[in-house]
Amino acid sequence: MNDIVRGADRVLIQERGPGVPEGIYGAECMSCEAVSPLFDDDSLPVAVWALQHSQDHPDHTLFLARTERHWRVVPRPDDPPPPPSWGPGFAGPAFVGLMCLLTALSGLLPALTT
Ligand SMILES: [Zn+2]
Repeated sequence: MNDIVRGADRVLIQERGPGVPEGIYGAECMSCEAVSPLFDDDSLPVAVWALQHSQDHPDHTLFLARTERHWRVVPRPDDPPPPPSWGPGFAGPAFVGLMCLLTALSGLLPALTT
């Protein structure tokens, strides 16, 4: 997992997987409106485009190259798993209440045996 930023309960990761490019490369000329096509996972065609554009327009020598990536926000992977479901929603609090009662009773037992 390639975490980029962690929030309170969410994590921003770089999206990877089948069909998801590692990066989308493109460039634009800083001297005119020319924009290169976008290429997945390969910056070389963008470089070739910039060279060709500069050959066609010798005074166009500065380009803004971009790499775009997909980000995805997912729940934190290390969140504690949800408590096992014991049935209806009131079962959990009832169980905790029972444990409190048992704890209270066990505290009373030594007093009763003396
Ligand atoms: Zn240009």
